Amino acid sequence: TNRTFTMIKPDAVEKGHIGGILSMITEAGFRIVALKLTQLTVADAEAFYAVHKERPFYGELVSFMSRGPIVAAILEKDNAVEDFRTLIGATNPSDAAEGTIRKKYATSVGENAVHGSDSDENAAIEGAFHFAGREQF
Ligand code: ATP
Repeated sequence: TNRTFTMIKPDAVEKGHIGGILSMITEAGFRIVALKLTQLTVADAEAFYAVHKERPFYGELVSFMSRGPIVAAILEKDNAVEDFRTLIGATNPSDAAEGTIRKKYATSVGENAVHGSDSDENAAIEGAFHFAGREQF
């Protein structure tokens, strides 16, 4: 068993999709270890996406991710990182497979409803940023 980290991004929260997305996550066999409604500051979003700072969409990405509340969660399942990235689907919803969260809820390549960690190492870093040990069950 291992863990991944996810955010339901501001676009999906604004549109009322928290419940629908959490249902898809739990129906796919992930256990919720930690969960909260929170908001990234501009500085948080800049740091979170620092790997993309030379990309042309960086400014847009930072303002999008900090514009409203997100849901942060730690999820547990065997093969969590890879299986969760399969469940969310391709970055661009027009490439996302049927049955994926982004196919159902994403609007565009930028406003794509959910984040999923890309490695076990990043999952641990991202989860620890949002949740103290006593908030993880
Ligand atoms: P995430 O890291 O959010 O799970 P990902 O790994 O599928 O997404 P990345 O290529 O790491 O995608 O890009 C990170 C995020 O940057 C994307 O989820 C999306 O919100 C945004 N993004 C990526 N490409 C573009 C683009 N061409 N235009 C605008 N925003 C983009």
